[in-house]
Order: sequence, then structure tokens, then C-alpha cells
Amino acid sequence: MNGGAQGFGAGGFADIFEDIFGDMMGGRQRRSSGGRERGADLRYNMEISLEEAFAGKTAQIRVPASISCSECSGSGAKPGTQPVTCSMCNGHGKVRATQGFFSIERTCPQCQGRGQTIKDPCPKCAGQGRVTEERSLSVNIPAGIEDGTRIRLANEGEAGLRGGPSGDLYIFLAVKPHEFFQRDGADLYCKVPISMTTAALGGSFEVTTLDGTQTKVKVPEGTQNGRQFRLKGKGMPVLRQPNVGDLYIQTAVETPQNLTRRQRELLEEFEQLSSQDNSPQSSGFFARMKDFFESFGEH
Ligand SMILES: [Zn+2]
Ligand SMILES: [Zn+2]
Repeated sequence: MNGGAQGFGAGGFADIFEDIFGDMMGGRQRRSSGGRERGADLRYNMEISLEEAFAGKTAQIRVPASISCSECSGSGAKPGTQPVTCSMCNGHGKVRATQGFFSIERTCPQCQGRGQTIKDPCPKCAGQGRVTEERSLSVNIPAGIEDGTRIRLANEGEAGLRGGPSGDLYIFLAVKPHEFFQRDGADLYCKVPISMTTAALGGSFEVTTLDGTQTKVKVPEGTQNGRQFRLKGKGMPVLRQPNVGDLYIQTAVETPQNLTRRQRELLEEFEQLSSQDNSPQSSGFFARMKDFFESFGEH
């Protein structure tokens, strides 16, 4: 597993989430009176294996995030002192300046719009009210989770400013491609190469499934390339449901290569002994094709 947390850039995901989820989540307030400010949302990219998506897991992640300062309880003022009402704006956060005929209102330069100033800043957070710390979080990854899933951990993002609410943490989950299995929803697909002789004579092989067990697959004689075998219930679990998908095994018949002289002799002998019954598809194929187009031309 690898990943890392990062803040949402301005105009990036944060805005997209606002647009999509803004109403659903009750409309977020970035800024409220008194300089309280909601903390930023954080994105954490996590990559897991298909085996982990199959079994589910509890992942421990470390998220560097600003949290409310424990020393001053987020006020930014030195313990034992309180922020005081800004003397320049009397707590309004805005000041008026008259320029000729115009009266312009602007953000108070003394308190930066907070309405309060801190005389004695907290030594731990330098008056910011929050400090950056790496936090350890435990994230439950449910069995059957799909690639591209977003998990939202409410209030686990950046701490708000001056007592504002925390942002959320979004885990963006990616499931790594598997060496042997392709996933389609709850079903898994696996291409299994078998030798030409196994395909012709019949036989069996064992596949290891995601639960770590072995399942025997019987290959009937005369098995063709691309034949599919269904192993019921050997696929992926369905998220928060008792259903389990299937595993489809698809044979890929391998044509022998690098023949010895003896093997070549045997195959040539086999060819001489072959009849149309041995390969009904290929026997006479080109003659049938030719006939088709010639009869087509007569009409
Ligand atoms: Zn502090
Ligand atoms: Zn002020």
C-alpha cells in the first residue's frame, strides 16, 4: 500500500465536491463570523491489491494535517489569556475609509477580518490556533470494494481556523491490476494456457483462487481454445451483501513449438491418420468458403 495526503488545490477537487455534494451535505460554510473558518478537505490516495479488496482490511494510514492546538484549545491566545476585541474595527472585522465622495469598506488590516486580536499569542501555535501533526487513522476497507471508490471520513481533514469546523478526509481508493485475474464487477476472469495434448486428450489443472484455496478444473477431451469454465462463488464478494461473484476460467490452447525430429514425425503421422471428424471446423473450410461465393455470383 502506498499513498499520501494532500490538500485540495484551489479550484480543484474541493470545488467539484462543493458542486456535487454541497446541498447534500447541508451546504458548507467556508467562513463564518468572528473569523471562524472551516478546515480544508484532504485527499488521500490509497492503493490496495485485489486480494485485499477480496478480503477487506483495516488500513492504518498516517495523515499530516493541521489539528486544533491543544495548548490554547484553538483560540490562538496564550493559555490564561483571551483574544480581545479588535480596537480598530470594534469587532466588526471591517473598517470604513472615506476617499473624496466615496466611503469604502474594507477588511480590517489589524485583525484581518477576525474582529479579535491576540495580545499574547500561544507559544505552541504562534497564535494560529492549530498545529501540523501527523495523525494515525484506522480506515476500514470493506470486502468487495471497487476500484475508484471514495471513502469520506467526516471531520478528519484539516482543523478549522479559530474554532471553525474541521474539513473532511477523502480516501481515493485504487485496486492494483492483478497478475492473473481480471475483474468485472463481482466476477473474475482468468486465462489459463493448456497444452495441445491436454486440450485433445483431456486432463485437469488446479487454479489458486483469491481465498488461497486450490480448485480443480477438469478439461474434457476435445476442448477448444477459448472455452470457458465457470467456478461458481469463486469471484469477488459484493459490497455489504452476502452474494459472491464467479470465477471464469478461459482456456488458451498452446500450439507446440521447437519440435524435435521425433515429435515432428509423430505429428506428421498423426496428420496422415486424421479425418474430417478430427477437425470438423477446419476441414474443408476454404472449399466451403469458395463454394459460398461462387453460388452467390450465380444469382
Ligand atoms: Zn495554541
Ligand atoms: Zn479589526
